[in-house]
Amino acid sequence: MAKTKVKVTIAIDEEVLKKSEKNLSEKNIPRSRIIESFLSYVSDPHLYCFSCGEKFLVSKADVCSKCSFVKCVKCKNCSCKLTEQTSNAVFQMRKVYEDLIGGRVK
Ligand SMILES: [Zn+2]
Ligand SMILES: [Zn+2]
Repeated sequence: MAKTKVKVTIAIDEEVLKKSEKNLSEKNIPRSRIIESFLSYVSDPHLYCFSCGEKFLVSKADVCSKCSFVKCVKCKNCSCKLTEQTSNAVFQMRKVYEDLIGGRVK
């Protein structure tokens, strides 16, 4: 069964809109699809485990009290088992993710 689509009106910075339109048209991605995809992600975000590769929902995962990273639901790994350099790399990547979703992972 097809899902119901609704029309929404949003206000976006003109510059941001123009820049994104260029990229979206080059990649042939409809604006509605990218917004829907993003909102779907924000409503129930998922991560991929940096250790075993498992895809899991953040809402189903625990946070390690020692390192404050989300623990993989499958292998239970967090940042504690990583070297300082790798842990820092994951931390910096997580910052991009948190910029996109507008706040902390969990
Ligand atoms: Zn894992
Ligand atoms: Zn930890």
